[in-house]
Amino acid sequence: MRIGAHVRDSADPLGSASALGVDFVQMFLTDPQKWNKLTPHPQGEELKASDVDVVVHSSYVLNVASLNNRIRIPSRKAVIEQAAAAADVGAIGLVVHGGHVRDGEDTAKGFDNWRKLFERQADDGGFGVPIFIENTAGGDFAMARHFDDIARLWDAVGEFGAGFCLDTCHAWAGGEELVGVVDRIKAITGRIDLVHLNNSRDEFDSARDRHANLADGTIDAEVLTAVAEASGAPVILETPEEGLAADVQFLKEQCSS
Ligand SMILES: [Zn+2]
Repeated sequence: MRIGAHVRDSADPLGSASALGVDFVQMFLTDPQKWNKLTPHPQGEELKASDVDVVVHSSYVLNVASLNNRIRIPSRKAVIEQAAAAADVGAIGLVVHGGHVRDGEDTAKGFDNWRKLFERQADDGGFGVPIFIENTAGGDFAMARHFDDIARLWDAVGEFGAGFCLDTCHAWAGGEELVGVVDRIKAITGRIDLVHLNNSRDEFDSARDRHANLADGTIDAEVLTAVAEASGAPVILETPEEGLAADVQFLKEQCSS
């Protein structure tokens, strides 16, 4: 199993990888809470040449599904730009949250906005790296919280080769059981490209997105390792910093035994 971690120091992913003893990292390419313009990554060439694999997480401010032009249009542009910048650091993909429409709005239009993103970009030569759409924990008008919505999303984007990132904290807090989750998701998407292996500070179906270290949340740690193993996908830990190195160790031990 490929085990990696989300690194907080986006300027020095190689240093963080070696400190954690991993050869796979996830990082942001810009402040995830802002609409900043991208600048070339200081370790871009080194990252590309190194044995460390990278996956890029897109900014949190993006919402491709939004019915609001002033959010959706810059979101589309940012996905395209961040995918191109991800290619520049040799990344295997770009993770993008499923997003949402606002309460009371028509979710069908949100799914259609996802379809348009892929359709237009396909006409334009495609994205710099594969796009991995991630399931999210909250909201009643989300595109990728409940698996029946993910099925509707996949009806819209599946034909364009969209990838899927399964976040265990988000599935649990979103109200989807983790036992058997890999088969249930693969029956919808046909694929899992990446697992975000996180425990949850909150209860099942709480709709809250607060990650916990593997052994310390409301999800049985054995259930988490079983999901990671069954997925056959590379794993990124996005757990709290103070226990991250211990989580890497724990997962390595569980999965080698
Ligand atoms: Zn995640």
